[in-house]
Amino acid sequence: MADPKVICEVETCTHWLPGKLCGAANIDILNEEEVLAESAEHTECKTFSERRGLANLVGSADNVNWWGAIEAAFLPDRDISPTVTCVVESCGYWVDGDRCEAKEIFVSGNDAKECQDTNCLTFTTA
Ligand code: SF4
Ligand code: SF4
Repeated sequence: MADPKVICEVETCTHWLPGKLCGAANIDILNEEEVLAESAEHTECKTFSERRGLANLVGSADNVNWWGAIEAAFLPDRDISPTVTCVVESCGYWVDGDRCEAKEIFVSGNDAKECQDTNCLTFTTA
Protein backbone atom coordinates (compact mmCIF):
# COMPACT_ATOMS: atom_id res chain seq x y z
CA MET A 1 0.00 0.00 0.00
CA ALA A 2 1.42 3.34 -1.03
CA ASP A 3 1.62 6.21 1.39
CA PRO A 4 -0.83 9.06 0.82
CA LYS A 5 0.44 12.11 -0.98
CA VAL A 6 0.89 14.86 1.58
CA ILE A 7 -0.39 18.33 0.73
CA CYS A 8 0.42 20.89 3.39
CA GLU A 9 -0.39 24.57 3.87
CA VAL A 10 1.76 25.08 6.97
CA GLU A 11 4.25 27.57 5.56
CA THR A 12 5.70 28.27 9.02
CA CYS A 13 7.10 24.72 9.23
CA THR A 14 10.76 24.14 8.53
CA HIS A 15 9.84 21.14 6.32
CA TRP A 16 7.43 23.10 4.15
CA LEU A 17 8.28 23.59 0.47
CA PRO A 18 6.61 25.79 -2.16
CA GLY A 19 3.76 24.05 -3.93
CA LYS A 20 2.21 22.89 -0.64
CA LEU A 21 4.83 20.13 -0.38
CA CYS A 22 6.44 18.56 2.67
CA GLY A 23 10.17 17.85 2.49
CA ALA A 24 10.33 15.63 5.58
CA ALA A 25 11.27 11.98 5.08
CA ASN A 26 8.43 10.86 7.37
CA ILE A 27 5.65 12.61 9.26
CA ASP A 28 3.85 11.48 12.40
CA ILE A 29 0.15 12.24 12.71
CA LEU A 30 -1.03 12.01 16.32
CA ASN A 31 -4.06 12.61 18.50
CA GLU A 32 -3.74 16.02 20.14
CA GLU A 33 -4.92 14.65 23.50
CA GLU A 34 -4.68 11.28 25.24
CA VAL A 35 -8.13 10.35 23.93
CA LEU A 36 -8.75 9.28 20.33
CA ALA A 37 -9.62 12.10 17.94
CA GLU A 38 -13.27 12.72 17.11
CA SER A 39 -12.61 15.42 14.53
CA ALA A 40 -9.76 16.82 12.45
CA GLU A 41 -9.16 19.50 15.10
CA HIS A 42 -8.13 16.74 17.52
CA THR A 43 -5.25 15.64 15.26
CA GLU A 44 -1.81 17.14 14.74
CA CYS A 45 1.32 16.78 12.65
CA LYS A 46 3.91 16.01 15.30
CA THR A 47 6.73 16.49 12.81
CA PHE A 48 5.93 20.22 12.59
CA SER A 49 8.90 22.29 13.58
CA GLU A 50 8.67 26.06 13.56
CA ARG A 51 10.96 27.75 11.08
CA ARG A 52 13.05 30.22 13.03
CA GLY A 53 16.26 30.57 11.08
CA LEU A 54 19.33 28.63 10.09
CA ALA A 55 19.90 26.76 13.36
CA ASN A 56 16.39 25.39 13.17
CA LEU A 57 16.89 24.37 9.56
CA VAL A 58 20.07 22.46 10.35
CA GLY A 59 18.37 20.84 13.33
CA SER A 60 15.74 19.34 11.05
CA ALA A 61 18.27 18.04 8.52
CA ASP A 62 18.15 14.46 9.80
CA ASN A 63 14.51 14.12 8.72
CA VAL A 64 14.73 15.36 5.16
CA ASN A 65 13.67 13.53 2.04
CA TRP A 66 16.88 14.55 0.25
CA TRP A 67 16.41 12.18 -2.67
CA GLY A 68 12.87 13.43 -3.19
CA ALA A 69 14.06 17.03 -2.97
CA ILE A 70 16.77 16.40 -5.55
CA GLU A 71 14.29 14.62 -7.83
CA ALA A 72 11.82 17.46 -7.46
CA ALA A 73 14.52 19.99 -8.32
CA PHE A 74 15.52 18.21 -11.52
CA LEU A 75 12.22 16.65 -12.50
CA PRO A 76 9.59 19.31 -11.86
CA ASP A 77 6.76 16.89 -12.60
CA ARG A 78 7.79 14.59 -9.74
CA ASP A 79 6.19 15.75 -6.54
CA ILE A 80 7.87 14.85 -3.29
CA SER A 81 6.00 13.47 -0.33
CA PRO A 82 7.00 11.92 3.01
CA THR A 83 5.99 8.55 4.33
CA VAL A 84 3.14 8.82 6.84
CA THR A 85 2.93 7.20 10.26
CA CYS A 86 -0.44 7.79 11.91
CA VAL A 87 -1.74 6.60 15.28
CA VAL A 88 -5.24 8.10 14.94
CA GLU A 89 -7.07 4.76 15.07
CA SER A 90 -10.47 6.47 15.14
CA CYS A 91 -10.02 7.73 11.57
CA GLY A 92 -11.77 5.90 8.75
CA TYR A 93 -8.55 5.87 6.72
CA TRP A 94 -6.45 4.32 9.47
CA VAL A 95 -5.23 0.74 8.94
CA ASP A 96 -3.17 -1.71 10.99
CA GLY A 97 0.48 -0.88 11.33
CA ASP A 98 -0.17 2.84 11.88
CA ARG A 99 -0.71 3.40 8.18
CA CYS A 100 -3.12 5.62 6.27
CA GLU A 101 -4.99 4.33 3.23
CA ALA A 102 -6.19 7.72 1.95
CA LYS A 103 -4.90 8.66 -1.52
CA GLU A 104 -3.81 12.03 -0.21
CA ILE A 105 -3.99 13.96 3.03
CA PHE A 106 -4.23 17.70 3.62
CA VAL A 107 -2.38 19.12 6.59
CA SER A 108 -3.75 22.50 7.68
CA GLY A 109 -2.49 25.13 10.09
CA ASN A 110 -2.01 28.63 8.74
CA ASP A 111 0.52 30.55 10.88
CA ALA A 112 1.06 27.51 13.10
CA LYS A 113 3.55 28.04 15.92
CA GLU A 114 3.38 24.58 17.46
CA CYS A 115 2.23 21.07 16.54
CA GLN A 116 -1.19 21.61 18.15
CA ASP A 117 -1.91 24.34 15.62
CA THR A 118 -1.80 21.80 12.78
CA ASN A 119 -4.47 19.26 11.77
CA CYS A 120 -4.92 16.38 9.38
CA LEU A 121 -7.99 17.80 7.65
CA THR A 122 -8.56 14.51 5.81
CA PHE A 123 -9.59 12.84 9.09
CA THR A 124 -12.97 11.24 8.79
CA THR A 125 -15.02 9.38 11.39
CA ALA A 126 -14.72 5.62 10.94
S1 SF4 B 1 3.46 20.60 9.14
FE1 SF4 B 1 3.89 18.41 8.89
S2 SF4 B 1 3.21 17.94 6.79
FE2 SF4 B 1 3.41 20.17 6.95
S3 SF4 B 1 5.48 20.63 6.18
FE3 SF4 B 1 5.58 20.43 8.43
S4 SF4 B 1 6.15 18.29 8.78
FE4 SF4 B 1 5.40 18.44 6.68
S1 SF4 C 1 -6.49 10.72 7.05
FE1 SF4 C 1 -6.80 9.70 9.01
S2 SF4 C 1 -5.45 7.88 8.95
FE2 SF4 C 1 -4.78 9.31 7.35
S3 SF4 C 1 -3.14 10.53 8.32
FE3 SF4 C 1 -5.08 11.68 8.55
S4 SF4 C 1 -5.90 11.06 10.56
FE4 SF4 C 1 -4.33 9.55 9.98
